[in-house]
Amino acid sequence: MLCRELGIPHISTGDLFRANIGEETELGQLAKQYLDSGELVPDSVTNAMVEQRLSDADAQGGFLLDGFPRNVAQAEVLGELLLKADTKLNAVLNFDVDEDVVVERLLSRGRADDTEDIIRRRQQIYREETAPVLNYYRDIVVTIDAVGEVGEVTDRALKALDVQRAG
Ligand code: AMP
Repeated sequence: MLCRELGIPHISTGDLFRANIGEETELGQLAKQYLDSGELVPDSVTNAMVEQRLSDADAQGGFLLDGFPRNVAQAEVLGELLLKADTKLNAVLNFDVDEDVVVERLLSRGRADDTEDIIRRRQQIYREETAPVLNYYRDIVVTIDAVGEVGEVTDRALKALDVQRAG
């Protein structure tokens, strides 16, 4: 919904991995074991995939990254990629949600890796590896209250990004 309002492509590393797994590419075969267990796919693989995607024509006028970077090392590589492309991030959106609410949402989503054990492992990785990314980006982090209906949360995000909703 944010991408529709902003008119930029949605670049989700999770979606890219799942597409590769579905198409049984070499990348997909490598990534599958990590997605199945909730572990992070190695940085070298993830970063190369993102670099490739960011070079596509539709990403030249802006993009929304979803699920990347997930650790500080990835953030550093992203910084180098963006510097080379003479661009930078405008903002980092932090969705503030109680962990119990997150678990509830994931369990109702029905994805294969949304079992309680795998969710718990992903949350542990979030706390250990991903949460520090917020500090790395502290100058551009925008935190919103993400408890509520999808439309409400979308409005809060757009307002926080200072974007007027079209239509
Ligand atoms: P998501 O769709 O964002 O929930 O990601 C699903 C799974 O894809 C994660 O549990 C990881 O196994 C993998 N993944 C997604 N993004 C990344 C990333 N930035 N770095 C490493 N692994 C990732």
